[in-house]
Amino acid sequence: MEPGVCFKKRDRGDEKDTPEDRAVKSQKSNAKPPLTLPVTPSRYDAPFPFYRRPAEVGRFSLDSQRRYHGSAQQLRYYAPPPMEGPVPGFDLRDGYLDRYVQRSENVREGLDHLLQWVAQNRKQLQGAEEKGQLLNTDFVTWRGHLTKVLTTPYEKQDGWLLAVSLFRGTLYVSEFETESAKRQREQRSELLKELTYMGYKFEQYMCADTPDGIPDPTRVVNTNEGFCTVIRTRLGTHSLLFSGEVDCTDPRSPWPDPPSCYVELKTSKVMHSPAQRRSFYRHKMIKWWAQSFLPGVSRIVAGYRGPDGSVVELETFETMKIFQLIREDPGCWKPAVCMNFCAAFLSFVKKVVTEDNPKLVHLFAWEPGHPVSFSVHHDSEYTFLPDWYVEALSSEKPPTPQIPD
Ligand code: GDP
Ligand code: MG
Repeated sequence: MEPGVCFKKRDRGDEKDTPEDRAVKSQKSNAKPPLTLPVTPSRYDAPFPFYRRPAEVGRFSLDSQRRYHGSAQQLRYYAPPPMEGPVPGFDLRDGYLDRYVQRSENVREGLDHLLQWVAQNRKQLQGAEEKGQLLNTDFVTWRGHLTKVLTTPYEKQDGWLLAVSLFRGTLYVSEFETESAKRQREQRSELLKELTYMGYKFEQYMCADTPDGIPDPTRVVNTNEGFCTVIRTRLGTHSLLFSGEVDCTDPRSPWPDPPSCYVELKTSKVMHSPAQRRSFYRHKMIKWWAQSFLPGVSRIVAGYRGPDGSVVELETFETMKIFQLIREDPGCWKPAVCMNFCAAFLSFVKKVVTEDNPKLVHLFAWEPGHPVSFSVHHDSEYTFLPDWYVEALSSEKPPTPQIPD
């Protein structure tokens, strides 16, 4: 990796340059982008930036064999247990050994499913010709990648790698696994694997296949299945198109329209003291908030796990009210810092990535305790826009008028 090799051209001798070369060169050095981006929270402690209400522009599903469908067939319906009575009789360990089909983690899917949706819906996304944008968005990415960016100023453990390519006026952002994340994944303990399963099992206990249906916990838990919403929004000067997996929709939601009617389901260890709750707000709630706030999912329902794998309590959080829960604690994270940092990161990406080329990747890298840096890779193992996608969007021409004879 060669940090900042895109500046190499400026090192050429002056005498070989034409006046045009020199003009371009001076323009480039005037607009010289910074090489790194700081992540310190205090730098981003400013008023909350403009964030347009997220709008759902599409939906797609992945079936039990991880096949793409341009429909909402995998959407599930929120079906919580009755409010009255004691705790729900959920056994989150049930089926771990005999009714669990796991998605293969060795397949790098990249942005492919989202790109499939974009390719199939490109007419709907037609951009302004004068901006040189084929699609009317500055960025295309997964919601999960943006969640990681939002939480960066407060993250103390896990770094990230985000690959960016500029293609026909839109910046595509796709994550690569860090060496440390790969090691952690390969060395995951049996306990951690079971905890992951328990999160999926909780979803099965809380969801039905139809709006008036009831959950069926005797079935297999298959993590290939998923329903994704496609969202358009704007953060400051950046228009965004992203997709995220949605756990379920509440047919009885006080906010009946998507994405507000969606519910995110989470599990967490039951808490016994105010100190435990404060730690939960500081370290876990930031991720829950960022993930649901970005696509405009209005509620998060937590199932608190007892030591035996049962659910001892349910608690509902309204995403828009989370900032009220945390603002009393001066040591807590701030939503505005997360959003201002994300806007700054997207501006940084726009300044750095200016060559429109689907085989060119700028790899943005971050490790805790450091600023964000980047390296440049041409036609390498980091290239992520598939040929089928590049071809599908390259064949796009303005419609030729049909002259009747
Ligand atoms: P999240 O916010 O981290 O859950 O990620 P997104 O909702 O943005 O999901 C993006 C895509 O990644 C979807 O197709 C998900 O099914 C998939 N995905 C989500 N979590 C994981 C994971 O832990 N491993 C893998 N391989 N894919 C995942
Ligand atoms: Mg969930």
